[in-house]
Amino acid sequence: MPQDKKLYIKTYGCQMNVYDSERMAEAMGGQGYVTTDSPDDADMILLNTCHIREKAAEKVYSELGRYKHLKAEKPDLKIGVAGCVAQAEGQEIMRRQPMVDLVVGPQSYHRLPQLEARARAGEKALDTDFPEDDKFETLKHRPKAKRGPTAFLTVQEGCDKFCAFCVVPYTRGAEVSRPADRILSEARDLVERGVRELTLLGQNVNAYHGHEGGLAGLIKALSEIEDLKRIRFTTSHPNDMDDALIAAHGECEKLMPYLHLPVQAGSDRILKRMNRQHTAEQYVRLIERLRAARPDLHLSGDFIVGFPEETEEDFQATLDLIEEVRYGSAFSFKYSTRPGTPAAERDQVDEAVKDDRLKRLQALLTRQQRALQDEMVGRTVKVLFEKPGRFAGQMVGKSEYLHAVHVESDTILPGSVHSVRIEDSGANSLSGRLVA
Ligand code: SAM
Ligand code: SF4
Repeated sequence: MPQDKKLYIKTYGCQMNVYDSERMAEAMGGQGYVTTDSPDDADMILLNTCHIREKAAEKVYSELGRYKHLKAEKPDLKIGVAGCVAQAEGQEIMRRQPMVDLVVGPQSYHRLPQLEARARAGEKALDTDFPEDDKFETLKHRPKAKRGPTAFLTVQEGCDKFCAFCVVPYTRGAEVSRPADRILSEARDLVERGVRELTLLGQNVNAYHGHEGGLAGLIKALSEIEDLKRIRFTTSHPNDMDDALIAAHGECEKLMPYLHLPVQAGSDRILKRMNRQHTAEQYVRLIERLRAARPDLHLSGDFIVGFPEETEEDFQATLDLIEEVRYGSAFSFKYSTRPGTPAAERDQVDEAVKDDRLKRLQALLTRQQRALQDEMVGRTVKVLFEKPGRFAGQMVGKSEYLHAVHVESDTILPGSVHSVRIEDSGANSLSGRLVA
């Protein structure tokens, strides 16, 4: 098949969307498409969207507006919307933006080639089903191209937790775990093509149950792959962190000492209203157990400020929890009303109050992050090198704790792991020297 059509994909949101975009590019590869970095020379533009917060959906509409002139100049150009906004607002998108030719939800993207063909035939093609056929199976043939040293691998999708603020259970559907044999063969294939670090993905990745022993069992099976050097996973729910997974942090050498474990808030009243199903105290005890298994574990989290009915006292409890845990990195958000979720109907916190709380929360998190990063100076860390840095003769990679690390060297190869003595801590990265 001639490879003469160009596909531009713009990805929003989480790492799972990054993985999905890759798989969609591969699916369209079978239709003669190659990817391009610019929408200007594309024959097809695909926006892989995120619906988690309000602004994300608005960004999609304004991005679509930017392609109006391209569509006018090139009537054959096909424009598609994929991902969670497509799932939630498919019909609305077609109505608001008539230039959109196809809409595909996150569970149907293996049908993208057929949808594209229908769009080329002049139809408006929409598929937001939760089909019975397994999209991962249908897309199992990744082309054998060489890969960089790190890759995402989706092992689990969907969520049954129904936190009161969150759209994921509605857009991604019920929790489903992929069978372990398929994950293992995809992992082996990625490693053969150059991948040295895998990040296992799932909306609730530690609820994974497709292997004996759950996620810990899968991690152990993956760590048997010889040339795979590092394993990470994200995102976890505190209530699914079982004994085996806690122990794996101390036992499994390839599992990196970095854990993203969102808590969202530090007030028990708010946690209850969020339907998180645990208290702040239970979360802190869990962190203690994890740190007992792996004392150098770096923690990352997600926080929401201004959840409906949050008082200053509730917010203070979140700050207190952060002080107690000490996070190496974190993501924090103002609560964003999502129609159809229980919290959308409740008493909302004033926008100015949310702004103020977010500023205070982020100031604390930045201080912590910086302090933990500065503590790395003088220590020796193992770095998996990924690519050349911005300056000549520089290589950049990641420490076990996910810090970006720069080193001056002409000899380091991407995909290799070296010990580095950290000499300096900058705004967002560390730099150091190879240890002989
Ligand atoms: N499953 C993960 C968990 O339980 O923490 C999180 C998945 S969600 C895609 C990523 C983050 O987005 C959440 O942890 C939460 O902090 C944030 N988020 C979700 N819904 C939100 C909303 N309505 N407003 C603000 N932030 C939200
Ligand atoms: Fe959303 Fe995570 Fe809660 Fe599931 S557990 S509803 S994905 S925040």
